[in-house]
Amino acid sequence: MGILPGAWRRTAAGAGLLSAAGEVAPTIFAEMSALAGRTGAINLGQGFPDEDGPAEVLDAARAAILEGANQYPPGRGIPDLLHAISEHQRRFYGLEVDPDREVVVTAGATEAIAAALLALVDGPDDEIVVFEPYYDSYAAIAALSGAKLRTVPLRRPDFQPDPAELAAAVTDRCRIILVNDPHNPTGAVLSPAIREEIVRLAQRHDAIIVTDEVYEHLAFTAPHVPIVTLPGAAERTLTISSAGKTFSVTGWKIGWIHGPAELITAVLSVKQFLTYVNGGPFQPAVAAGLRLPDAFFSDARDRLRAKHDLLGAALAEAGFAVHRPDGGYFTVADATGIGGGDADAFCRALPERIGVAAIPLTAFVSPAHRDDYRGLVRFAACKRPDVIAEAAERLAGLAAGG
Ligand code: PMP
Ligand code: GLN
Repeated sequence: MGILPGAWRRTAAGAGLLSAAGEVAPTIFAEMSALAGRTGAINLGQGFPDEDGPAEVLDAARAAILEGANQYPPGRGIPDLLHAISEHQRRFYGLEVDPDREVVVTAGATEAIAAALLALVDGPDDEIVVFEPYYDSYAAIAALSGAKLRTVPLRRPDFQPDPAELAAAVTDRCRIILVNDPHNPTGAVLSPAIREEIVRLAQRHDAIIVTDEVYEHLAFTAPHVPIVTLPGAAERTLTISSAGKTFSVTGWKIGWIHGPAELITAVLSVKQFLTYVNGGPFQPAVAAGLRLPDAFFSDARDRLRAKHDLLGAALAEAGFAVHRPDGGYFTVADATGIGGGDADAFCRALPERIGVAAIPLTAFVSPAHRDDYRGLVRFAACKRPDVIAEAAERLAGLAAGG
C-alpha cells in the first residue's frame, strides 16, 4: 500500500472510502444487500424496487436499442430528453428551463451531485452545509472536493432542522448548501419556513443551493415544492433529480441537473470527464417516462404510500416506535424499546435472527453525532405488498421474543 500518496490515503480514510486496512470500504447498502443475500433475508435495506416500472418506459428502451441508439449520445444528453425534462419542470412546477443551456443529463443523481460539488468548490476554505443524517455520497464527494462539510442535525420527532442551528452553520465560508428534499433516510419533507430560510441564508452569504430531489414524485402529505421555485432562488440553485426512483429503474442511472446556464456550464465541464455520457438507449425511454400522464405519477405515489402504511403497521406491531414518512422510499423506526438501542449491532444481527435486512441510521451520520441516532433503523418500503406482508410476519417474531 506504500505506493498510495499519504494525503490521499488520509482523505479517503477520513471520508470512509477506504477501510483501515486500505481496502475499498463497501457502502452500507452493498454490505447489507450482501448480508441479505447470504442469509436469504428479505432485503428492506438498499432502496431499490422489486417490481418493474411502466411498460411504456421499458418498451421505449427496447425499441431504442433495436433502432440503433447504441453509440455515444451528445454530452449534454439527447435533445428529446432535454426537452422532456424542461416540459416536466413546466408541467409540474411552472418552471421555464432552457433545454439547450440550462440542463445536463448525468449518470444518475450521484454523478450530478459529484459534478456540482467538484465544479463549484473553490478551495479548502470553502464549506458545504448539509443536513444530517445525509445520503452517503455527500460526505464522500465533499471530501474529494477538498471542502469542509458542516452538518446541521435533523431533530426528532419530525426530523426538521433547528432554524438557529441552520443559520449558525451558514457563514460567508459556505459555498454550497446541499439539500435533499424529500429526505433519505428520514422520510422528512422540509417545512416551507425552512425552505425559505435556506434561500435567505444562501442570498445573504452568496452560497449556491444544490438540491437533490430524486423523491420529488413520492411526497405523500403535500405536493412537492422544489426550492428553485421560491422567490430569489432560481439564480443560485441547481436542481437534481433522477429517473431511478420515479420509474423504478434504479439500474439505468439516468439523472439530470438544471439551473442557471453559467452554473450548468461549470457542472458540464466536470461531468464530461467523469463519464462523458451514459445510457444511450435509456435516455429516450426516460423522455417517454417524463411525458406520461399525471395519473402515472400520482398512482406511483399512492401505491408507495400504501406500502409505507403496511410496513409502518407491521413495525409498530413488532414494538418499534415508527416515524411516519412524508416522502421517499423509507420508513424510520426506533428499535430502542425492543432491545435495539444500538441499531448498528441490531441491523447486523437482524437478517440471521428473523430474516429481514435494514439499515442503521448511524450509517448516514458523521462519527461525532452517531449517538443522537443510535436506536434508529431505516426500512425500505419500495417492495411488493406480498413481500412486505412476509416481512411483517417475520418482524412479528421480534415482539414474540424471536
Ligand atoms: N440521492 C438520494 C437522496 C438517493 O436516495 C439516491 C439513491 N437512492 C441517490 C441520490 C442516487 O440516485 P441515482 O441512483 O440516480 O444516482
Ligand atoms: N439510494 C439507495 C438507498 O439509499 C442505495 C443506492 C446505493 O446503493 N448507492 O438505499
